[in-house]
Amino acid sequence: MSGSTLEDILDSAERVLAKYPLCDHCLGRLFARLGRELGNDERGRALKTLLAMRFTLRGNEPAGERDREVLSTLARNAGEPFTRLYLKLYGQRVDAEKCYVCGGLLSRSLFDELASRITGELKKLDASTFLIGVRLGEEVFERELEVLKLLGLNYSESIKNEIKREVGKRVASITGLQPSFTNPDVLAIVEFPSLSVSIDIKPVYLKGLYLKLGRNISHTPWITREGVKKYPLSIQEFLDAKLRGLFQAEKILIHAAGREDVDARMVGTGRPLVVEVVRPLKRRVEIGELNKLLHAGVVSVMIEGYAAPRDVRVVKEVVGRKAKVYKILVLLEGDVGDDRLEQLENFFRNRVVTQRTPTRILRRKKDVARRRKVYAVKAVKLGRRMLEALVYCESGLYVKELVHCDGGRTSPCFPTVLGVGARPLELDVLGFAEKPE
Ligand SMILES: [Zn+2]
Repeated sequence: MSGSTLEDILDSAERVLAKYPLCDHCLGRLFARLGRELGNDERGRALKTLLAMRFTLRGNEPAGERDREVLSTLARNAGEPFTRLYLKLYGQRVDAEKCYVCGGLLSRSLFDELASRITGELKKLDASTFLIGVRLGEEVFERELEVLKLLGLNYSESIKNEIKREVGKRVASITGLQPSFTNPDVLAIVEFPSLSVSIDIKPVYLKGLYLKLGRNISHTPWITREGVKKYPLSIQEFLDAKLRGLFQAEKILIHAAGREDVDARMVGTGRPLVVEVVRPLKRRVEIGELNKLLHAGVVSVMIEGYAAPRDVRVVKEVVGRKAKVYKILVLLEGDVGDDRLEQLENFFRNRVVTQRTPTRILRRKKDVARRRKVYAVKAVKLGRRMLEALVYCESGLYVKELVHCDGGRTSPCFPTVLGVGARPLELDVLGFAEKPE
């Protein structure tokens, strides 16, 4: 309809009103892109008024039955000002029908009322940004589409959008809060036509690093098949105990850049994580205050700042991009000379290792072979049959298996070079480093 004239617009409006009863809002919305800074109701009412004026122009004195029929349909479907015109011309009252699309619900006072209900909720929630969402009933959706199909207009706005825009504008002006389309603190969802409002409190995200200075600490509570907790402490429980009350939240979740074995410590630089505070009633706590609380015994978390939802994905990708550094204490099954340690270091320099899924996790994971690179190994003897090794490797390498070969499922491995069996005793993750070129 590009290049259409006002006459074309009026023809379209008359065509649609000949078939469907439409309120000012729902008629105006079909032409929403014409005329800026107008409410759809103003637009719709103006079109109806112009149509009535055109009618008088056209027919001078309405006389014939045809005019009467057309006018009575318009009065029924458009309401004012046609009902008034009809009464004047024919001395008869015509009752306007309910709007086909919105059922007569849309009005400025409805928008006001919805805004005031949402504002009341927002005030309780410590939110600084919000977004209005609309969930549309199937029937309203179908009817809106049906009307649009008749006109094939490209000036229209959807009913969803009108409600979002009108209510959002009011909420922003009452509360002084900013709408945010990408990362709102609170999403208020209006159901239409039931008009119920539900409030979706978005999580608060914090990013930081954690250290695990003790062993047998899992990420999340590890419940056995018998329903018993296998380890006394998890990082999630630690954070839950410290943060849930502070944020008045429902629960705390964690998203980390990979994970170490339960019996491995996480020391050195720490492992990146994002903490998700679910349904918080309080959203801002000073970072320094958080860190004082979280800097504790066997688990310690350093919060760097508030984060965005997408950081959950970002932190999980960190693990693939970075090289990992492990410290492992190894018990040897025979004596080994210093020359062998040197050979070990020389051999595991940018060496690709093939690993079938370790026996210890075969029950949980598919048996596949994968290849990971060991960038470097540094080893020192601590006793006659004890050595400590730093393993600098690609993320995803099973370090314990690198040490004991896992019955040949990992190859090559330490015994390949050392010539004696080896057993990993203690594993620590020291941190993440940039991958060497
Ligand atoms: Zn309507």
